[in-house]
Amino acid sequence: MAKDQGADDDAPQKDVKSEDQIGALRNEIDEIDRQLIVLLSERREKSRAAAELKYSEHTPLRDQLREERLLSSRVQQAKEHGLDAHLVTKIFHEIIDDSVRYQQQFLQHKVNAADGSEIALRKVAFQGSNGSFSHLAAEHFFSRHETPVMYNGSTSYKLVLELVERGEVDYGILPIENTTSGGINEVYDLLQRTRLSLVGEEKLQITPCLLALPGATLAKISRVYSHPELILQCSESLKDFDAIENSFNTAATVEEIRKNGATNCAVVASEEAAHTLNLQVLQRGIANQQENYTRYLVIARQPVKVDERVPCKTSVVIATAHKPGALVEVLKVFQSNKVNLTKLESRPVVGNPWEEMFYLDFEGHAESDQLQFVLEEARRHSRFLRVLGSYPSPDIARTEVSLAQKGAGSQKGASNAIPRAKGTAAEASEQKKESSGSTKLFSRGYKSQDTIIQVKGVELGGDSFVIIGGPCSVESSAQIDACARHLKETGGHILRGGCFKPRTSPYSFQGLGYEGLELLVEAGKRYGVPVVTEVLAVEDVHRVAETADILQVGARNMQNFTLLQEIGRTQRPVMLKRGMSSSIEDMLNASEYILSQGNQQVFFCERGIRTFETATRNTLDLSAIPVIRQRSHLPVIVDPSHAAGTRELVIPLVFAAKAVGAHGVMVEFHPKPEEALSDGPQALLFDQWAEMMASL
Ligand code: PEP
Ligand code: MN
Repeated sequence: MAKDQGADDDAPQKDVKSEDQIGALRNEIDEIDRQLIVLLSERREKSRAAAELKYSEHTPLRDQLREERLLSSRVQQAKEHGLDAHLVTKIFHEIIDDSVRYQQQFLQHKVNAADGSEIALRKVAFQGSNGSFSHLAAEHFFSRHETPVMYNGSTSYKLVLELVERGEVDYGILPIENTTSGGINEVYDLLQRTRLSLVGEEKLQITPCLLALPGATLAKISRVYSHPELILQCSESLKDFDAIENSFNTAATVEEIRKNGATNCAVVASEEAAHTLNLQVLQRGIANQQENYTRYLVIARQPVKVDERVPCKTSVVIATAHKPGALVEVLKVFQSNKVNLTKLESRPVVGNPWEEMFYLDFEGHAESDQLQFVLEEARRHSRFLRVLGSYPSPDIARTEVSLAQKGAGSQKGASNAIPRAKGTAAEASEQKKESSGSTKLFSRGYKSQDTIIQVKGVELGGDSFVIIGGPCSVESSAQIDACARHLKETGGHILRGGCFKPRTSPYSFQGLGYEGLELLVEAGKRYGVPVVTEVLAVEDVHRVAETADILQVGARNMQNFTLLQEIGRTQRPVMLKRGMSSSIEDMLNASEYILSQGNQQVFFCERGIRTFETATRNTLDLSAIPVIRQRSHLPVIVDPSHAAGTRELVIPLVFAAKAVGAHGVMVEFHPKPEEALSDGPQALLFDQWAEMMASL
């Protein structure tokens, strides 16, 4: 420029000329870029055709040698053209990643549409409004799917889950962890009890921006609205503003800001949200670190099938036994079977302070022989184990080539170039046949050692004889307090009390419900004894499980399979009472409904069955005890109160139960049986109970 100072007259003409030249060059560049897109699309067509062949001919998805050759020759070509080999490698890694993902998705589509259930439109729920990071993650995930998608923004994570559960949408997407702020507790807790399956995973780089009304300036911003997760991720940048407010719906918040013309207000959201909401970006990338990624999980009602050529991941939730080293035992099972763990996260158990649940992610499909063996083994060391799902892994292992020599060989191969690591699968399947075959979870074939259930220091199973006592129903604060104190003073272990009563007549006392539960739980805490209470309805299961130490399934509900399954998703030990017209086999199978949902802490209760005999309320089937102990590793106790129906018969039956090897008894007693609102005639008097306790 300085050289041309003397040629002022020519300057404007020269500029016009060079502008023309630049314009022309730009047009040519544009044309090349357009061609690049056309070529990429042609490449994808070929990739699709290859995927079809691989599908029909059952050949592996990836060929490591081919990828190495491809990269090496592109690197070579790049050098010949004077291009940066690193850049070209980077570009081709992206292209190969895309192609692998595309082919994986193609196979996934094939195996999952094999039943002919083609869906015309998929509905997907996410938390937040359009342009939220969850929305972007969903778009990213479903962009590889061929079916059109309709998105449904909802106000909370819980609602996302419910929309999927109710069938109002096909999928939900939930953030599970962020590289800056860590695990998202609410989502972990929701997963603990869901019936849904994990069917996919997405990782998204999160670049939060500060957005405000057009015309607003950063200096004037004093109030910032943001989703709480983003507040955590951007805590450094946000600390200087006067007020930070939670917002779960950015669109609604922005509408409010716009209505008030509040130029002192800003929101934290994506750059995309700035376009959809017509806002200006005041600051870009305000997270505490640039490497700010969120991992999202995709949930659906049905598990997804994963083609065996597609690298697969499995997530489980586990609670290990209450003994030192139990977690190590479980982890050893994974290690010795060469299963690669990719994630271990712990969360407290709701209602059990200082107890932890563990979330584990690992490579492989839960249905593979190898993992079935590993999971069975792990379950033997667990109080709870539930598979959340097996789904295609979003991580593509890259094939690396050396940029130094010509025709470069490989350094590190793509670890998932080979279909799926089989490891010790054959061995595992052999062992599996030996150890269990198709044996059920309750059986000795599945687990030879006795299960011991621990509740607040009480051990049920093994050699101990546990005594559960209390009134049939919780009737008042004074009544349950008196019972709890008496139980404690006489050496009883667990307090019982019905709050939701399954009465034969709808006109009989139905129990005090949650009010009764509160009284029972308080009394238990006051005297330091765990409590057991019956849960009658599916919708009450999780609420009762929040505070009751043990959940009781009553005789009338022994085959209420939906109730059993819901209880199987809780973390509380379960007392399963024998149905009055059920065989031992029926009861064992009923327990499988609980165990198969994850909860491994079930014990049986023999409480008498209906026979032609009328001398007792029911006939106590004492032979059930040794039979159950032979067939199952789970503890079994006896309830002589509901069997006998009259208090005089209860104590002899307690001794009989002990003699036949029961792990304990449950006996009803009441401060004033004559005034009891239910089962008065069978309730022991306080003195009788004390005598019984003394002689045990
Ligand atoms: C009870 O134990 O409170 C009860 C109702 O017993 P069952 O279900 O055995 O009749
Ligand atoms: Mn009763």
